[in-house]
This record gives sequence, C-alpha cells and structure tokens, in this order.
Amino acid sequence: MRIGIIGGGQLGLMMAEAAKKYNHIIVGLDPNECCPLSHVADEMIVGQYNNKELFKEFEEKCDVITYEFENVDMDLVSQYEDKIPQKRAALFYSRNRLTEKAFARDLNIPTAKFLKYDKQLLFYPSIIKTTTGGYDGKGQWKISKKEDVDQMLFDSNIEYIIEELVEFDYEISVVASRDSFGNVSFIPIPVNKHRNGILFTSTVFDDIDSLIVSKAKEYTTRIIEDLDYVGTLAVEYFVKGNQVIFNEFAPRPHNSGHYSIEGCSVSQFENHILAITNQKVMKSHLINPTIMINVLGQDNGFIEDISDSSVHYHDYNKTERKNDRKMGHITIVSSTISEAQSIKNNVIKE
Ligand code: AMP
Repeated sequence: MRIGIIGGGQLGLMMAEAAKKYNHIIVGLDPNECCPLSHVADEMIVGQYNNKELFKEFEEKCDVITYEFENVDMDLVSQYEDKIPQKRAALFYSRNRLTEKAFARDLNIPTAKFLKYDKQLLFYPSIIKTTTGGYDGKGQWKISKKEDVDQMLFDSNIEYIIEELVEFDYEISVVASRDSFGNVSFIPIPVNKHRNGILFTSTVFDDIDSLIVSKAKEYTTRIIEDLDYVGTLAVEYFVKGNQVIFNEFAPRPHNSGHYSIEGCSVSQFENHILAITNQKVMKSHLINPTIMINVLGQDNGFIEDISDSSVHYHDYNKTERKNDRKMGHITIVSSTISEAQSIKNNVIKE
C-alpha cells in the first residue's frame, strides 16, 4: 500500500522503517526536506501541514494516511477522515488537557483533581499547565503556595488547567494497538522516569504488580474502544499504591514504546502499520529485560561505549542539535535487569 505519514520526525521515521518490512511505499509530508523521515521515505511532499492544495496533492498519492503528532489541522483530518484510521476524535480529545481529562473522567477512569485555572479556585500542592501546545514538560509550573501563583506571568490569550500534584510511587505508560477488526494488543508496560519533564528512561521487566497491570490495560481498552481508534496509542498513568491515575494519552506510537523495536517480539510501530493497513495486530511479548534511554541535544559525550552487542543506538539524523531536542535513543536488551542496568551505567553518565 501507499502510506502517507504526516510529520517527518523520529516517530514518522520508525513507522516507515516498520512499514518497509511489509514493502509498503511511504509518502511523507513535512516542512523540512531533511527531516528524519526523508532518509527512508520513497517520496517527500515538502510544505506546511495546513496548506490545503499541498495536502490534497499528498492525499491523492496515498491509500491510507497516518499522523505522528497531535497538532495536525483538524479541518483536514475531518475532510479526509475516511483515509485516516486514527480518526478525528482521538486528536480532538488529546490536544487539550481539559477535554482530555474530562474524557477519561467520563469513562470512569481515575484522574488527579483538575479544574480550568481560575485564580479564585486555587489548591495546593498543584501543577498549572497550558491546556494546549505544551509537551515534554514545557508550559507547566509546580505551585505550593499563593505567592508562587502571584509570581507567574499568565498570557491572557492562553487557557490553563490546574491539577493536583500527585505524589505517585512511579509512572507507567500503556502502549496499545487496535486493528479494524476490534482486536487490541499491548506491549509489556514500561516504567518511565523523566528528567525536567522529558522522558529519560523506560525500563521493562516483569516487576509491576498484576493488579496494576490489569487495571491499566482495562482503562486503556476503554479509551481505545470508545475512540473507535485504529493504530497504536499510548496512555500515561501515575501509580500510587493500588491506584492507577490517568495523566494523558497520545494518539500515536510513543517514546516510551521505542524499547519494543529490539525488546519485543512485535514492536509498537509494526502493530501500528499492521492496524492501519487493515491487517490484524499481533500479540507481543518481552524478549528480555530492556532499558531505553533518550539522547537529547545537550547529551554530547553522553554515550561512553556502544560497542556492546546488547546496546542498540538509534540516531534520528537530525540536522540541528538543540538543548532538550531528542536526537536519538539507546536500547539495552539483556538477560537480566541487573545486567542491563550495569551495561546502562557503562554506557551513560547520569
Ligand atoms: P505531562 O506533560 O502532563 O506528561 O507532564 C510531564 C511530567 O510531569 C509527567 O510525566 C510527570 O512526571 C509530571 N507531572 C505532570 N502532571 C503531574 C501531576 N498532576 N502530578 C505529579 N506530577 C505530574
């Protein structure tokens, strides 16, 4: 099939790499002709995502279209929804933190207490976030007292949300893929650690309590089915005691699922491609304990030794190195988690 990918970043690149295994043809749409996807796409349409003529030219070249990020033009997605298995609803809810959390709450999935930000209705400790446009910890501020809010500079054109600051034990994400026949497949659940709001590591081995695993999968199934979503989707949760608390979801493959390329029998990208091309998703299991580490722009000289055969380095081939920009990732797959951890300590400096 001819698969169109909106967005040429690392997710688009890894989707295309998975699609090539099935001999699909890839047409990319991105403003940057040297984007990561351009290295594997058969054809790139270079221009802005919301350019209607360009989008039509792109759409006519494709049998099916997928997107790798949330800020896709909603009007264009609505117009061409028949060709976009991820569909409009998932984008609609996930691009605004208020609608996203209300959506989870309406499905009876626990969330942290949240309100539309109003300076008369403060509570502490809390976290104030922009409702749209924020990612990787950008546009969010932790608040412990009234004076913290007094010092903040709010933009009157921007809407904010205030959320209870959850004292979680750990963070997880559930990466699920659903096909057009209604089957749902999960990759094993990673435990995620963040540095300055940006994912740092995802660690996967059989250590999460089975009650937590079943609750998290059940909530995620409710979400993916309610959205009638086809493709791979990720939901992030906080775990506190026996509680699994929804934080947010992303209607696309997710950074915390990158480990599955080498760590699992079937990766999140392969199941995404199977689902959107009208094939059945496959069951995926962990091959061995796995750790994924993100490499950011400032991590120059961060990698000490990647000559070990358990270490897989993915370079996204980005032309410009910037602080906090994801430049690549490292996956370590080893027979025991302690061995993977000791390899990680040799590979990187924390
Ligand atoms: P987000 O952009 O919502 O994924 O937030 C990035 C990271 O900030 C999360 O992965 C958490 O580590 C932290 N965080 C966000 N919201 C909360 C919250 N309500 N309580 C505690 N930590 C949070």
